[in-house]
Formats: sequence, C-alpha cells, structure tokens
Amino acid sequence: MVGVAVSVADVYSALAGIPDPEIPVISITDLGIVRGVAIDGDSVEVTITPTYSGCPAMHAIEEDVAHRLRALGFAGVKVRTALAPAWSTDWIAPEARERLREYGIVPPHPVSGADTHRIHLFSRSIACPRCGSENTERLSEFGSTACKALYRCLDCREPFDYFKPL
Ligand SMILES: [Zn+2]
Repeated sequence: MVGVAVSVADVYSALAGIPDPEIPVISITDLGIVRGVAIDGDSVEVTITPTYSGCPAMHAIEEDVAHRLRALGFAGVKVRTALAPAWSTDWIAPEARERLREYGIVPPHPVSGADTHRIHLFSRSIACPRCGSENTERLSEFGSTACKALYRCLDCREPFDYFKPL
C-alpha cells in the first residue's frame, strides 16, 4: 500500500486552519485540544480532548477535521476523543491569548496546580480588554456561552466576556 505523502507537521498545519466554532479568531490547535496525530498508510487518526461539554461543539470540529484531512489525500480519517487528562485553559497557546484580548475576550488566568477553587478565581481582578482598567464587575457567571463569564468595565462602561479558567 502506498501511503499519503503528507507528514504529521502537514496535518497539524491543516488543523491549524480550523477555527474554534465559537471563537473564530483562534484555531483548534491554538486551543490546545489536538493531542496527537498518527498516520498509518492512507489513514490518519487525530486525538482531540474536548474543552467544556458542548463548548466548543465537538461534532462540528470532527466534521471539519475529517473534511480537511480528506482534502490532504487521506482515505480514512478517524477522530478519537481522549477525556484524560482533562483539557485546561492553560493549554491555550500564548499567541492565541493575545488574539482573544484583541477580539474583546479576556483570556483565562493561568490555573496554578490544585488552586482551582472558583471563589479564588473570581476574586482576582479582571482587566477590561478595551481600556485596561481593573475597575470591573461581574454581571453574570455566564456570558455569550457557558464557558465565559460576562463582565462590565466601570470606567468605559463596556461589557465584555471573560474566558473562565478550567
Ligand atoms: Zn474599560
């Protein structure tokens, strides 16, 4: 059997073109959910660790992965879901954090070890992505999606989303 003349790096760059279904400025590789790529002849298996349940939509991602990798010449594309270790917002690429901020979403604070208690996370000040003011208030634990919280800047009065750490 003749394999596909595509390297694992080529597969990663194809995957880097797949945007997160909910945050188009970052890709699924930026999010850090692509955990592995294995090429076997004309087949490829991609391991993905989902973020929050249904956030982003895993089904849409699977279809996009299959579509793009078939376009590279693979006859078979398998998307494997790995639930452990659980995805963490710490896996988001540093460059992607900047793009999130420019998009108007405050990137998640790093989660340090076992220090993931909710109260603690929300007691930290969240700076406004527009004016940088730390004079902000949380309006709701849920923003435009369940994985974000809705904040408002008390200086420029603009509401914004905060990507909750996990
Ligand atoms: Zn502001």
